[in-house]
Amino acid sequence: MAELLMVGSVAYDSVETPHGKVTQALGGAASYAGVAASFLAPARIVGVVGEDFEQAHLDFFTSRGLDLAGLQRVPGQTFHWGGRYEQNMNVRTTLFTHLNVFEDFNPVLPERYRSSDYVLLANIHPALQLQVLDQMTSPKFVALDTMNLWIDIARDTLGEVMRRVQMLLVNDEEARQLTGLEDNLAAAEGLLELGPEVVIVKKGEHGAMMLTRDWSFLLPGYPVTTVQDPTGCGDCFAGGLLGYLAAADRTAEATLRTAMAYGTTIASFNVEAFSLDRLRTLDRAQIDQRCRALRALTAFEV
Ligand code: AMP
Repeated sequence: MAELLMVGSVAYDSVETPHGKVTQALGGAASYAGVAASFLAPARIVGVVGEDFEQAHLDFFTSRGLDLAGLQRVPGQTFHWGGRYEQNMNVRTTLFTHLNVFEDFNPVLPERYRSSDYVLLANIHPALQLQVLDQMTSPKFVALDTMNLWIDIARDTLGEVMRRVQMLLVNDEEARQLTGLEDNLAAAEGLLELGPEVVIVKKGEHGAMMLTRDWSFLLPGYPVTTVQDPTGCGDCFAGGLLGYLAAADRTAEATLRTAMAYGTTIASFNVEAFSLDRLRTLDRAQIDQRCRALRALTAFEV
């Protein structure tokens, strides 16, 4: 098993969906990704929280085997994100993004983190992603996740990060925004020109496409009838995927395909409850079982 490091937001989320609402619930890209990965491989977390961040959340992370030596706790308020989902839960509006303690965050990696082999630059300001990357000795595989906000306000820095990673994860809208290309496949191919060897374009419940110069892989989402809150699905997808790669310590085509299936599967559990709640009761056996069901759903003969 190789070492896996993640940087990203650790947050309070206030979220409204057609099925309910939560205020100041546990959220954040690194929280979802870290916990998702923890079912497959332990992860080291780099991030920051404020004094208001509950000890119970840190205890939950620790119970999942996450290494929190790189998670700073400083005076101030924890990052707080607010979002609302429409009846069609593929449509989400960001109501507010209070960076709070992330405004002055200066990530300093504990010495033993620097040699990590697998890295997930989960969603956060690209300048912070870059700062983390600069402290790494020679990672084998770096994956980058981002969102429309950073494409809007920090595009050049994001471009710099993109040139230094092996994998880029975006949704279809972000792929269009980054390339100016409307067609999904053309946009994904366009992203390969920006640096990464592997591009993943996500399409919510409709699944994801993984593209390299030599091969591609398509997988639908695992169908779930009890969608409560889709928040964090992209992060669970990325976390599960990287967790699988770190556990296998391989990035060959077959491993990448299975890794995407694990990411897809863990994301499908995450939608079943608000915040990270479904992940609290999830276990590896449930994940393996649903992953096999996903394979059965998508297998056919010609
Ligand atoms: P996802 O649904 O996968 O896009 O991820 C949602 C999570 O990302 C929420 O838990 C938020 O706290 C977090 N998030 C939202 N906006 C940002 C942002 N601008 N930077 C970092 N994290 C964010």
